[in-house]
Amino acid sequence: MISVEDARRIIIESVEPLGAERHPLAQCLHRVTAEDIQSHVDIPPFDNSSMDGFALKAADSHRADSANPVTLEVVAEIAAGSISDKPLRQGTAIRVMTGAPIPAGADAVVEQEVTAPRNGSVQILSSVAEGRNIRKKGEDVKAGQIVVGKGTFLRASHLGTLASVGIDAPLVFKRPRIAFFTSGNELVNADADLEPGKIRNSNEYSLMGLIREAHCEAVALGNAADDEGVLKQSIREGLRYDALITSGGVSVGKYDLVLNVLENVGVVSKFWKVNVKPGGPFAFGVFKRNDSVIPVFSLPGNPVSTVVTFLQFVIPGLQRLMGMAQTTNRVQLRALLEHEIHKKDRKRHFSRGVLRNEGGHFFVSTTGSQSSGVLTSMTRANCLIVIPEEVENLKAGEEVEVELL
Ligand code: AMP
Ligand code: MG
Repeated sequence: MISVEDARRIIIESVEPLGAERHPLAQCLHRVTAEDIQSHVDIPPFDNSSMDGFALKAADSHRADSANPVTLEVVAEIAAGSISDKPLRQGTAIRVMTGAPIPAGADAVVEQEVTAPRNGSVQILSSVAEGRNIRKKGEDVKAGQIVVGKGTFLRASHLGTLASVGIDAPLVFKRPRIAFFTSGNELVNADADLEPGKIRNSNEYSLMGLIREAHCEAVALGNAADDEGVLKQSIREGLRYDALITSGGVSVGKYDLVLNVLENVGVVSKFWKVNVKPGGPFAFGVFKRNDSVIPVFSLPGNPVSTVVTFLQFVIPGLQRLMGMAQTTNRVQLRALLEHEIHKKDRKRHFSRGVLRNEGGHFFVSTTGSQSSGVLTSMTRANCLIVIPEEVENLKAGEEVEVELL
């Protein structure tokens, strides 16, 4: 049995990012960059106005206020997207719209709201300082600067930034295709009638959602019977993808055959059993296929164990496969327990919790029964309460660490 940290470390060390490809920017949301992306241009590319108003020499406005306006002749107008080669001379103004290039000779823009038009000229009702309302060339990005580093998970604003520097097909890592199957003779589809002794296959749907929430492609291989031949077929099929996730059949029961079959097929076990609850029987191995290493995550079948081990162990592996430079833990914060919690083992517990904020403090309580079969304990939760290995008793009011879901 290994610690939670060791399990994560081994997974991260065993998994390599997939290959890279140039991909149209419009389809790069939630992809990961495979190189440092440099800007060849300054952004903005020229000094421009941040307001609708009048470009002028700041010195011309120095004595202006609403009682004693300064009147300047308006000699030109520049809309965003246009340029004017008319230089601005002392005692004149040029009308500019937001985004318009600042004309040569101007050193400030007075916003329209503190001006009054007067046929062919404008009254300036307030003095402006030099540089006011001017966005300087290169103030966002300097030519040569790395705008998005290698291994960055691309969010919407990254796409916008890449577009702004003219990158329309960045080099990104391939999106992993993750195969998964569930196992268990007792399992039937969500739409099937329940015969005696059977239960519905919930992990099929939890896993599908979890893989997609991790921004990977989910390839569902269905449910396998607890039979070596059937399992072998599902595993062989699954090993054709970038990673394989199995659910169920990894405990010590007579029909827990998954780990044996994985070994027979050539998957090299890296560890089995983690000092964690729920999810203790979690196993991880790798399969060599040509030049690639296919990670194989074997999740215990109890519905909560499946979800918790996915969040704690599979996600760091998938993030590595996606090429993320840093595998991120979930957002952690500290909260005050609303009731006592006892545990007897020396495992790390991830209890399902409800976090709320009252008067600037976070309070957390569990979602009731923490049995690993009670999936609604997970659906009601908005966080996991992390109870360290060595802790046995927690009193109401004690501070605990929680991970946001
Ligand atoms: P196992 O990990 O195969 O020993 O299964 C542990 C428990 O989880 C058993 O009660 C199973 O019936 C249940 N279980 C296993 N797989 C699933 C699944 N895909 N959906 C719902 N329950 C499952
Ligand atoms: Mg089973």
